[in-house]
Amino acid sequence: MRISDLRSRLHAAGAGPSHAFRVLRLWSQALPQDSGKRRVEDFLPQALREALPAIEAELDGLARVVSIHPGEDGSERLLVGLADGQMVESVLLPRDGLCISSQVGCAVGCLFCMTGQSGLVRQVGSAEMVAQVVLARRRRPVKKVVFMGMGEPAHNLDNVLEAIDLLGTAGNVGHKNLVLSTVGDPRVFERLPQQKVKPALALSLHTTKAELRERLLPRAPQMTPEELVERGDAYARATGYPIQYQWTLLEGVNDGDDELDGIVRLLAGRYGVLNMIPFNKVEGLDFHRPSWERAASLARSLHRRGILTKLRHSAGQDVDGGCGQLRARAVQRVDA
Ligand code: SF4
Repeated sequence: MRISDLRSRLHAAGAGPSHAFRVLRLWSQALPQDSGKRRVEDFLPQALREALPAIEAELDGLARVVSIHPGEDGSERLLVGLADGQMVESVLLPRDGLCISSQVGCAVGCLFCMTGQSGLVRQVGSAEMVAQVVLARRRRPVKKVVFMGMGEPAHNLDNVLEAIDLLGTAGNVGHKNLVLSTVGDPRVFERLPQQKVKPALALSLHTTKAELRERLLPRAPQMTPEELVERGDAYARATGYPIQYQWTLLEGVNDGDDELDGIVRLLAGRYGVLNMIPFNKVEGLDFHRPSWERAASLARSLHRRGILTKLRHSAGQDVDGGCGQLRARAVQRVDA
């Protein structure tokens, strides 16, 4: 279900814009019906009150928690079942963050990512994205939502933008706390500046070498690292939200001193931060993470050369559930 379908259903049942907003607000914030002084239903026209239980039941059925995998860092990975039996992953992050999935599978096929191995299975609807937020909010507060789970948001942009719009209005998430993560796609840079709710951007850079990037991200749009940074920087300056440049550290692939000059050349003076995240092991893939000492030495060298660099662990890495692995295992169990 898309949020636009949901709005049409509410409209057909007699809801004006403010009625629809109230219903969407309660749903997306996972608030109980009686959270105000009066039940929200008291404000609604009779026809809508009658239609509401069926609509709410459908919204409730959009997503359910299949399993919960707590990490030592306070994160929780959720395997989420969708109404047609497909599954995606959401990650509750420390400090009230949530990472959600925008596709089942992914067509980009990054060599170091489990999700990329399955190809695209199907798009996740905008209402299913918000339903992941609702599930998470039933467990703990969510103040930041990152579209960084399974899938490439640029390949499902209409749905992602609808979800962002709802979360940034009725859903009570600050616009700079909505983060769209992408490998970089011209459509993102064309459409985001036109949105009422403009999210912050995370760009998956991973290397400064165009050829290596094409090999690591085989079906990403062929934007060079220079173009990507140029367009990202323009968006960052227009919105006032710094770009997060993502760099998955792969031992012997993109953790060498030879990348340092390229990073300084690309990112010096840019409005952004470089997030280096040592690779989270993925069963069956022949990549390894560098030692923490090696990663820290890279980050220190970049700092000395004026590049704001953060070295991070990927959330919940101890649960062995890096993006796509919980789903892959569950699918294997079903197939067996
Ligand atoms: Fe897709 Fe992201 Fe995985 Fe690449 S890392 S295959 S873009 S989900």
